[in-house]
Amino acid sequence: MSSRTPFTITINPKIPLRLKRLEELANNLWYSWDRATRTLFSRLDPNLWGAVGHNPKAFLKRVDESILLKAAEDRVFLASYNSILSTYDSYHYEASPQDSYENLQPEDQVAYFCFEFGFHESLPIYSGGLGILAGDHCKAASDLNLPFVGVGLLYRQGYFFQTIDNQGNQEVTYTDSDFEDFPVMPVLDENGSNICVEVGLPHRNIRVKVWQARIGHVTLYLLDTDLSENAPQDRYITHKLYGGDKTMRIEQEIILGVGGVRALQKIGLKPTVWHINEGHAAFMILERVRSLTQQGLDASSALEAVAANTVFTTHTAVPAGHDYFSEDMIETYFSCFYQDLNVTHEEFMRLGHVPGSPDFNMTALAIHGSRTHNGVSKIHGHVSANICKDMWPQIDAEENPITYITNGVHVPTFLAQEWSDLFDRYLGHEWRTKMCDIDYWSRIHPIPDHLFWSVQQSLKSQMLYGIRARLTQQNFRNHGSEAHLDRLLRFADPINPNVLTLGFARRFATYKRATLLFEDLDWLKKIILDEERPVLLVFAGKAHPADIPGQDLIRRISQIARLPEFEGRLLLVEDYDLRLARRLVSGVDVWINNPVYPLEASGTSGIKAGINGAINLSVLDGWWGEGYDGKNGWAIKPGHENMEPKLRDKEESQAFYEILQDQVVPLYYNRGKLGYSPEWVKMAKHSMVSLLPRYNSTRMVDEYVSKFYLSASKQGSLYAEHDFDGARKVAGWKNKVNNAWGGVALRRLDTPCNRTNFGDVLHFRIAAKLNGLKPDDVIVELLLCRQSGKMSLCDFKHFEFKCVDTEALDEYLFELKLAPELCGKQEYYIRVYPYHSLLTHPMELGLMVWL
Ligand SMILES: *Cc1c(COP(=O)(O)O)cnc(C)c1O
Repeated sequence: MSSRTPFTITINPKIPLRLKRLEELANNLWYSWDRATRTLFSRLDPNLWGAVGHNPKAFLKRVDESILLKAAEDRVFLASYNSILSTYDSYHYEASPQDSYENLQPEDQVAYFCFEFGFHESLPIYSGGLGILAGDHCKAASDLNLPFVGVGLLYRQGYFFQTIDNQGNQEVTYTDSDFEDFPVMPVLDENGSNICVEVGLPHRNIRVKVWQARIGHVTLYLLDTDLSENAPQDRYITHKLYGGDKTMRIEQEIILGVGGVRALQKIGLKPTVWHINEGHAAFMILERVRSLTQQGLDASSALEAVAANTVFTTHTAVPAGHDYFSEDMIETYFSCFYQDLNVTHEEFMRLGHVPGSPDFNMTALAIHGSRTHNGVSKIHGHVSANICKDMWPQIDAEENPITYITNGVHVPTFLAQEWSDLFDRYLGHEWRTKMCDIDYWSRIHPIPDHLFWSVQQSLKSQMLYGIRARLTQQNFRNHGSEAHLDRLLRFADPINPNVLTLGFARRFATYKRATLLFEDLDWLKKIILDEERPVLLVFAGKAHPADIPGQDLIRRISQIARLPEFEGRLLLVEDYDLRLARRLVSGVDVWINNPVYPLEASGTSGIKAGINGAINLSVLDGWWGEGYDGKNGWAIKPGHENMEPKLRDKEESQAFYEILQDQVVPLYYNRGKLGYSPEWVKMAKHSMVSLLPRYNSTRMVDEYVSKFYLSASKQGSLYAEHDFDGARKVAGWKNKVNNAWGGVALRRLDTPCNRTNFGDVLHFRIAAKLNGLKPDDVIVELLLCRQSGKMSLCDFKHFEFKCVDTEALDEYLFELKLAPELCGKQEYYIRVYPYHSLLTHPMELGLMVWL
């Protein structure tokens, strides 16, 4: 048989009329957070459900006709089906789009661009935290009824599947997906033909097909170059996520940025806010600028118009993590833009310029092309402001326009079913609408402790079943013996899930220091091998195929897991994906995260664990830096940034061991008469109560709307009014200011006095040389603060000078009368910076002169 090629034919079942809407349920990623819908499918045929990787659409194409016919007659099944449809319908049709935001205009629409999106394992176009965050952003936008669309790439192979061999080597496999099996559909025009757009790459045009996925109310548009009209190598552009080399990357980013804008245009959408989620998508700025220059606007005014309603979120905490391309590549790929924009190569390169590098940097482009920029936690906001401070050369990092919105997770997706059942019972169904009500969640405290504990135990048990299945498969594939498997699984006992279980799962990037726990193996042994109070460690994660040090981490963990003392105490589970993530975050007792401070931009897995009653033991970095309140978990205080890395690892691992042995283990095993630890439950409850209402994606998206989207939309329309009059004004004015600024100077006219009495009015007089600018073009101000040990610019009060006269031909006289309100030694500064009423951020020009 083997030499012959078989003919194949696939037989699809006919969905009975009575169950017709199963197709609709399978085509809306609503199922990614509605567990009842997933259960409905799996009930039909649990084995098939597993075999198709929990993919409803693939499932419906393979399930036996007889099963469907039987279900169509089964009253119990129909009752569930109807009840799900009724929830589905009220979610989708009973709220009008602008319910939640009265300030939103009817024409408002947010377009959110990202390189990856993670909703559910059945749509594998994500690799890790960034994609899942983007997915959660879309889900929350749907929950909030925002007019919102996403734009991304539809990867044929996505990120890779991971297996780990006996020696701990990561093996990578890519498989082609059949888009027919994905919850996506081609976008059709009014004639029923596929909508495609063209994107020019050197010496050829690429045809890009536009697909759509439904995420509740929200549509996600996904771009695909795998079309027969394209040359074979171009069909690969949208195959692998983070695959290929720099050429592949720039082509992917051009397809996303340029193709994405064209796709929205062709579909007829006119977004009023454009959100770039991480620098990969920043080429969209260029296409939008190009499109405006085609309408006759000059490039600088077009850039102002585009930037005014563009929001940029950065997720990286090291400059090296920012995407960049060489000057040659930019010349190759974008010289065709120069003419359209009427700019020179040098002017174009400036858009992506960062001091000290000849390359074109995507973060720089994103910042130049947006007026609202943020990091993803408080710490990361400061870090980003520092990394990018040269973009505003004369402004202190504390005052530059980079702010932060801390990440959150989509609670319905990550909260285990058992918890939502328990909430239904003790809080009532309305908890779903109280996501951000901080006081409301204290109602968790009265839930009986033993119930709380038993939910945790039951979830741990489910996790252990899952892990055992994966490890059994892993062992079988690696030709391990039965005896070895028995030893491996001896502490992972779902019947008696009483062993304190710690989880560590995320990308194996080196800064996340997955092996920090193994700094002192003897100490670790002493803690976890205790007969009375054993500890189980569970690890999972993928390392990027090109990240050799990351793969070494996996080998090291595997090596330790094979040491006789550790066998069974340390489990390394392969192929970390959303499914395994949901299992682990709800099944472990303690979630560990020990990145090198301050490199964890936010991190989100610890939040997922926290809302599920697991307790965090983490370095105070990213979201935990603000989430930790002293009672809701344990904190490893990071060593100083400039500390020698080895020493730092040593100190932080020591802190980890101490916390584990002195606090975590005793607390967990301090079982009361009823067999559980009341103190543990208290802490787990407090962790849930303090984290759930603060770090969920509803709060996050709500913040994006109220702080960024509403103002960006307003600013965008202000700039666009009367044929882009505002944009032209700002561009022209900035040009004038930039040319004049070198000659701007302040001179003090009054004699500084260094002692006065309370109530005395101080009279400050300044002569400002404005080099052709007018007094209205600037703000002259005094900053005043009482001296103290730790002062930051935000502590200062601002007092504005008034222009009173022309002192000489080229100087203006500014005055300020001020009676300080506080006594004691005060510190003050006087400075001037450009001002225009249309500016989005007062410091956006990056210009300032201090006296
Ligand atoms: C949440 C999540 C992540 C992000 O984890 P961090 O610890 O924040 O890096 C990565 N992968 C998966 C599958 C996740 O669900």
